[in-house]
Formats: sequence, C-alpha cells, structure tokens
Amino acid sequence: MWDIAVAGAGPAGSFLAGLLARENFSVLLLEKETFPRNKSCGGGLPPHATKLLDSYNLPWRSTVVNSVEQAHLFFDFNSPIEINLSDHPLQLVTRRQFDTGLASWAVDQGAELRTGSPLQSYKINDKEIQLNISGTTSEKSRYLIGAGGAAGPVTRRLNPEIPPHAGMTAYLKVPDEIFADYADRVIFDVQPDYQGYAWIFPKQDHLNVGLGGYETEGLKPGLYQYLEATFENIDYRLQDSVGHPLPFYSPGRQIVDSPVALVGDAAGLVDGLIGEGIFYALKSAELCAKSFAAGSSPLIQYKKELKTRLLPELNWSRRIGRFAYQHPRLAYEFGFENAAVREYLKDIVSGKCSYRNLVKQFSPRLPVSLSFPRRED
Ligand SMILES: Cc1cc2nc3c(=O)[nH]c(=O)nc-3n(C[C@H](O)[C@H](O)[C@H](O)COP(=O)(O)OP(=O)(O)OC[C@H]3O[C@@H](n4cnc5c(N)ncnc54)[C@H](O)[C@@H]3O)c2cc1C
Repeated sequence: MWDIAVAGAGPAGSFLAGLLARENFSVLLLEKETFPRNKSCGGGLPPHATKLLDSYNLPWRSTVVNSVEQAHLFFDFNSPIEINLSDHPLQLVTRRQFDTGLASWAVDQGAELRTGSPLQSYKINDKEIQLNISGTTSEKSRYLIGAGGAAGPVTRRLNPEIPPHAGMTAYLKVPDEIFADYADRVIFDVQPDYQGYAWIFPKQDHLNVGLGGYETEGLKPGLYQYLEATFENIDYRLQDSVGHPLPFYSPGRQIVDSPVALVGDAAGLVDGLIGEGIFYALKSAELCAKSFAAGSSPLIQYKKELKTRLLPELNWSRRIGRFAYQHPRLAYEFGFENAAVREYLKDIVSGKCSYRNLVKQFSPRLPVSLSFPRRED
C-alpha cells in the first residue's frame, strides 16, 4: 500500500511527489506519457516561479532557452507599450526538457515514477483507494492526488464539466533574419474576440506563437489569421500547432474531497489575467506537501492553505482578467497606459505585491466597479 499516489507528472505532480518522498512518504507517481513529451505551453517563467524553483534547488536553469528583458504589449488601437523587464527577466523554457528534469528530480528524491501508465479510474474503499492503471494493473494507496492537468481523470470526477477556456500554440521555424527581429522581446497582443491575447515567445530555434482566452470559439482559425497577418510568406500550416484547455480559476470548483485532492491545472489554478499556471502548479504542490508533512488531516489543512494563500489572489486575477478583456480600451486607459500600474503588475509576478493591493490602489479611479469577491470565493 502506497502512502500517496500522484496521478500526472507535469510540474505540479513531479514537484509534489519529490517533496513528499523527501518527507519519507512512499509515493507512486503515475504518468500516462513517456518522457520527454511535449506540452502545449508558452514555457514562460516569471520571477515568482523561478524564485520558488531556486528555493528548492530544482534543476531548471539548464532548460532555459532564452531570457528576455523586454515585453511589448499591443492593444489594437494603439502603438505598443514597452515594459522593461531587465530587473527580472522572463525565463523561457521548453516544456519537453523542463518537465523531464522535474520528473527525474522527483525520482532522485525517492518517488517511484511509472511512465506510460495512465490512471484510468479509482475506487475509494474503507481505508484504501484502489487504483486502476492502464486497465491492466492495480495498486492501493491511502491518498490520491490528481495532477493530470485540466482534463485528468481525478479532476473530471470531482468536477465533471471540463473547463471551456483554452489556449493554442504554434511552433514556428522562421528564417534567421525574422527570428532576429523577435529574439530579445516577448510580445503580448490583446485579442478582444477571444477575450485573451496572442503571444510571441522567442525560443532558441523557433518562435512559440499562441492564442488563448476565455472565448474559445474559432480559436484555431483565429491563430492562423494572426500568423498570416504577422508573418507573411511563411508556411505556418506545415508547423505543429497544438490546443490545450487553459483552466482559468473559477470559484466553486471542488479541489479537496478527502482522501482525494487536486493540484495545479487539475485544480483549475491558472491566473485569469495573464494565463500563467506553472507558478500556481508548483505553489499548490508545495502547500499540499507541507500539509502532509504537518501531520494529521493533511487534506483539510491543504484546503485551508489554498483558501487563505492562493485562491483569493487567483479570484482577483480572474475578475481583473475578465474586466480587461471585455473592456480593452478602459483597461488600456485606466490601467496599462499608467506606468505605476505596470510596476504593480511586475511586482505581482515577482511575488512582491498582490492583485488585491493593485485593485485597492487603482479601482477607485475606474468609471465602473470591480466589486470585492464574496466571502465564499
Ligand atoms: C497554450 C498554453 C500556453 C501556456 N503558457 C504558459 C506560460 O507561458 N507560462 C505559464 O506559467 N503557464 C502557461 N500555461 C499554463 C501551464 O501550461 C499549466 O498551468 C501547467 O502546465 C500546469 O501544470 P500541471 O502539472 O498542473 O499540469 P500539466 O502540465 O498539464 O501536466 C499534467 C500531466 O499529467 C499527465 N496525465 C494526464 N492524464 C493522466 C492520467 N490519466 N494518468 C497519469 N498521467 C496523466 C499528462 O500527460 C501531463 O504530463 C499555458 C497553457 C496553455 C494551454
């Protein structure tokens, strides 16, 4: 009987499994794919994510393919806003290498990793959970943590409706002279039709171009249109393009149902303004592992920690995100055009400041109200 089974070896699952194994729990880490595997993602790591990775000496720096000190933010109706990131560059990784490194770190800490081994279903008996792996193998554990991303089997059982938001990435090989044009900056281009944004991230040998948002109808043709308008004469149709759910946090999701709980995308922990999820995947894994290390009733403790330390911020990010994408002109005039707001946003992804503070500081100037969240949020 395993103490804890973790289903999914993305950043959330591998980090959690490694931390738990370090605390001497017996941990079974199940992964349906084999490493290295792809994951549709921009692979952008803002400072609060890199700080957390460094605080545990995780092996991620060797997977960085670019470190970018400039961001250009486009709104349809205006010239771009330039944001200087030189004090905290955005680190770009490829998820293929990054996730492989984290999974082997988990193994080094003592977790047992089984790849090509999807959790298919589970049954909760009196004092144990019966795990059905690949339809052929069965194992038992005391606890089960779902880390299988936005559509994994544990999240589907706790939250049967799959989140409708999505993102899509294309991996563009472009001629050197075009790459050079994008090599030292990231681009965010607000797309009101999708209530989200398109991005261009320069990786070592390709451009990662994507489109994601709350509105997913027509996302694929939307991405193709964006590519066509941005890169003339490039046969982008021959490149890979992959879609994936993007579970922006929404209150009311079930995250804990002891002896089962969720971390990362499985728990719907994606920032509702900028769409980043790797930090929240790692942070939720850390809170979950600390709750187990603290002793009795670990999942009640985990739920409390999430409620006080992560969910209020994510709830604010969702409110601000929905507002900004529904009212881009207001968001531009009362927000992004203002250098102080941009400094606040940089402080948020550096972990120095919160969305709540940003709203307190600036919402009185808005002509519409961004009301405070309900208590149960
Ligand atoms: C297009 C796009 C771009 C993004 N860009 C960024 C970005 O630049 N920066 C950022 O911070 N975030 C970004 N995100 C969000 C980020 O990708 C996720 O938040 C992050 O991957 C969550 O990590 P996770 O470990 O929870 O889940 P995942 O990374 O999805 O990992 C889940 C793992 O579980 C495995 N699995 C699934 N089902 C099973 C099963 N039944 N049994 C066993 N294993 C299973 C999967 O194979 C996978 O390895 C982006 C998302 C999208 C869709």
